[in-house]
Amino acid sequence: MGIDTHIISDRSGADTIVAMSTPPGRGAIGIVRVSGPDAIRIGEAAFRPARGFPLGPAETHCLLYGHVVGGSDRVVIDEALLAVMRAPRTYTREDVVEIHCHGGLAAQREVLREVIRLGARPADPGEFTRRAFINGRIDLAQAEGVASIVAARSSGALRASVRQLEGGLSSKLRDARRRLVEALAQVEAMVDFADEDLETTDWSAVEGALRAAVNELRLLLRTAFLGRALEHGVRTAIVGRPNVGKSSLLNALVMRERSIVSEIPGTTRDTVEEIVEIGGVPLHLVDTAGMRSGGDRVEQMGVERSHRAMESADLVLAVFDLSKPWTAADSRLLARLDPTRSIVVGNKVDILDPFDPEVLVRRAATMRGDWTVCSVSATVGTGLEGLRSLILKSVAGDAGLHLEEPILANERQRNLVNEALERAEAALAGSEEGAGEELICEDLRSSVKALGLITGEDITSDLLEEIFSRFCIGK
Ligand code: GDP
Repeated sequence: MGIDTHIISDRSGADTIVAMSTPPGRGAIGIVRVSGPDAIRIGEAAFRPARGFPLGPAETHCLLYGHVVGGSDRVVIDEALLAVMRAPRTYTREDVVEIHCHGGLAAQREVLREVIRLGARPADPGEFTRRAFINGRIDLAQAEGVASIVAARSSGALRASVRQLEGGLSSKLRDARRRLVEALAQVEAMVDFADEDLETTDWSAVEGALRAAVNELRLLLRTAFLGRALEHGVRTAIVGRPNVGKSSLLNALVMRERSIVSEIPGTTRDTVEEIVEIGGVPLHLVDTAGMRSGGDRVEQMGVERSHRAMESADLVLAVFDLSKPWTAADSRLLARLDPTRSIVVGNKVDILDPFDPEVLVRRAATMRGDWTVCSVSATVGTGLEGLRSLILKSVAGDAGLHLEEPILANERQRNLVNEALERAEAALAGSEEGAGEELICEDLRSSVKALGLITGEDITSDLLEEIFSRFCIGK
């Protein structure tokens, strides 16, 4: 199953495209990138080098100093560098030139206009990367890796995206797909030779291949939460009664005075949000108003807001004051929490406590579920490292964070792997239960197809259009 051949003949190599590859606005340099069969001719026409030219036919991957010139009278537009890269060792596998001019909007615009006058066409969003894909330099999952690198907002997201561009995810997906195709071929042979009454299918081999593929897909799917966390950040609500130290904890985690710390209970009336990076994973911390029933109207609205924040959070840090006796309100809060996505934080361990941190552990233990409990001092800083590693563990799982391992980076990939897994499991169950071969084949075909859609082996031009339209211009 190759790539849609219509796209190849229609879109690739036909014309020469140009775009500003650096964001518009003021900056030290702005790069105008040109790719296609006329790129080098256009580069030579728009550029007057301080020395050299014409370039020898074998000269490539070189940087020339000179001026961009425009119009038939070749007036100087800007002082610039010209990078010349000949196919196929380029980003798009086509001839590419880059003009590194000054970063002002006017300079870049003038250069762009001149390149268009010389015959290039303005590129669509993501068109350079799309050409890299169409020309077989990278597959679709790798192309999406490029988009993720550009969008990465944390060091962890960046590392994972670079791995994706290097092809880590693609090779895992191809392994699983190869096993499924093998199984499909075996079962299809059975269907084809059904009339001849030959036992051509080795069912144990089919099931072996299916089991291996199912395991690989399950492992990949386990990275879905981490992938989502890297893409969007982990929404983390800090909840607790007034004055237990929620704002202090937020400040300690972000290490600056963002939310106002006060000694009057119930002063954090609204929610305060901050983004912090813990072990490479971005966390959206939300400090909610104190959870306390009753109170005035504003306070009550705050309480409602905290309940909402708790419900929509991926992770809840429930803060309790270890220096105060346990109350019924504490029990009520604990009862509302979901132990699978909450960390119970006993704060103010630095104060001589009327109840020892162990009490909190025992309290939590009497409730249903497996609780994660820790004690900290938000103001002194005790126990914060421990809390950080518990947070990371709850995001990445027991195995910890292995950003070198492939991760499902976006919703499209996660949905497709999920679909591939479901259909592969159905095929395996069908085979074990002696279902009809036709049915098993159908499940296998859908599973293979879903994986092919991730790497781009089975892709339609519509889908391609949609994926690349999310890229920025010049990429
Ligand atoms: P919030 O209402 O839950 O946001 O609580 P705040 O963060 O405003 O803190 C309430 C009070 O407790 C402030 O006076 C803080 O300085 C104090 N506090 C917070 N955390 C600690 C801690 O770990 N140790 C001590 N001794 N005081 C703390």
